[in-house]
Amino acid sequence: MRITVLTGAGISAESGLATFRAVDGLWENHRIEDVATPQGFAADPALVHRFYNMRRATAAGARPNAAHHALVDLARHHDLTLVTQNVDSLHEQAGSTDVIHMHGALTGALCAACGHRWPAPLEMRPDDPCPACARPATRPDIVWFGETPFHLDRIWDALDRTELFAAIGTSGNVHPAAGFARHARRRGAECLELNLENSANARDFHRRIVGPASRTVPEWVASLKRG
Ligand SMILES: [Zn+2]
Repeated sequence: MRITVLTGAGISAESGLATFRAVDGLWENHRIEDVATPQGFAADPALVHRFYNMRRATAAGARPNAAHHALVDLARHHDLTLVTQNVDSLHEQAGSTDVIHMHGALTGALCAACGHRWPAPLEMRPDDPCPACARPATRPDIVWFGETPFHLDRIWDALDRTELFAAIGTSGNVHPAAGFARHARRRGAECLELNLENSANARDFHRRIVGPASRTVPEWVASLKRG
């Protein structure tokens, strides 16, 4: 079966990685506008690099949980397209390959001047020179609020063809990802939500499984193997 899975912060939360929406718009005591927008980066690049250096260090110490491992198993039995809104590498650590990081990755560095990409060091600084053009325009390879997510052509194409779409641990608040279920449903896919609570776009799904991802995802994958 062709299956498309979208994962969000809820799947990483159980590995100890904090999400910002749970704390009233503040993220580790920073306003989103200051640390996760192009305007915030322009105003204070050192602050933004410190914020992502901290997140990179925290993510480096995190380990995938049973939900990440179950999705590796799912790919062995079905034609899986795995899309994530998360910038950590927990899917890859679990063993997933070809993960579509629509919001970028903490492990990546991007030159804002020439577009060159390279593996991010643990500590990035604003005056780090780009390896390609040598300009001091280094930024995290992360999609900030107000920027266009990566790989959307590939994602819409997968949603056009998928037979089953499952959203795991996503809030349903962030566009365009919040529209994926409706799109897949219009194209005839069954849409399933696995979440701690109903998401903002819950009506777009045919059914939902409520509970922590580390329990619900392995059970769901097991049911697909039986089916
Ligand atoms: Zn460059």
